[in-house]
Amino acid sequence: MDGVHNQVFFPSTMQDMFTSWNRFPQAVPFAGGVSFARRQDSRYTLTFPAYILSLDKLNELQRITRTERYIELGAMVKLNDIINLGKTIPQVFTQALKCIAGPELRNLATIGGNICHPALRLNATAPLVALDARYELRTALTSRWISAARFSSFSGPPAFNPQELLTRIRIPREQWNYSLFKRFADPYPESGTGGSLVFIARIQKNILTDLRVVFAGETVIRDKNSEAILSGKHLPLDRRDINHFIELWGAFLSAVDTPGMTKARIINFVEDALLELAD
Ligand SMILES: Cc1cc2nc3c(=O)[nH]c(=O)nc-3n(C[C@H](O)[C@H](O)[C@H](O)COP(=O)(O)OP(=O)(O)OC[C@H]3O[C@@H](n4cnc5c(N)ncnc54)[C@H](O)[C@@H]3O)c2cc1C
Repeated sequence: MDGVHNQVFFPSTMQDMFTSWNRFPQAVPFAGGVSFARRQDSRYTLTFPAYILSLDKLNELQRITRTERYIELGAMVKLNDIINLGKTIPQVFTQALKCIAGPELRNLATIGGNICHPALRLNATAPLVALDARYELRTALTSRWISAARFSSFSGPPAFNPQELLTRIRIPREQWNYSLFKRFADPYPESGTGGSLVFIARIQKNILTDLRVVFAGETVIRDKNSEAILSGKHLPLDRRDINHFIELWGAFLSAVDTPGMTKARIINFVEDALLELAD
């Protein structure tokens, strides 16, 4: 660590936070800090970035706001606090959060930290893309909203500008009658095959009015064209419609650059999910 002076900043206002960040652009936002400690279990001493920008004292990032149309979560809201909101939160999102490590870790880990992992798409991404969530990103001078799909659409790190912070997550409060979440293997997909899958469907008067299938691993995969094929179909679903949907997904996946094992897992998951809605 020669020549490196470690510094931890604890700003209590957004203005102070951006002032510190602009002075030390190499500083790293630190939410629950869980991901920094991960995979260091073989060391005697944990190592952390030299310049840390703790978000812990920023009260506005801890807020939860509810309206009729959406729920808004500050980036520093803990995973367990979201789970404890119960039915206010779409079921598929809660399912995804409950699969993250154990309850102790979920008391520390934040939703912002889960979304912003620099290398990987963790559990929250697939449900938030499927639910059409939007993220507020702020710098010292700017504020913008971006869809979860766009934010996570690149195969590299999330779409941040320099010294830009995720501040709020807005989730539409829509009714989804059927929700499935599945996580494959390690959420850290070093093999390129891990990731999370989501299937949600809205059923009104026995008609499938909307469905969404999203995979988030090394990349985010969603095929809106296939989804449209089943919208408007009566339940129980006809097996031929299911086969048609699977064929379309198969064709779509064949053009996607992702490991064959991931493709097979997606197809199996989608088929199982649809068969639950068949006669
Ligand atoms: C034992 C263990 C098991 C785990 N299992 C799972 C699992 O099964 N599924 C899963 O999804 N995750 C898993 N994780 C990872 C963990 O859930 C997430 O990394 C966690 O949600 C991170 O939250 P945090 O608040 O600790 O973020 P931090 O570790 O503080 O930050 C994570 C990253 O996001 C950046 N960041 C944080 N907040 C912001 C913000 N507001 N704006 C911009 N950048 C930001 C940080 O700079 C950092 O790069 C596991 C972790 C451990 C230690």
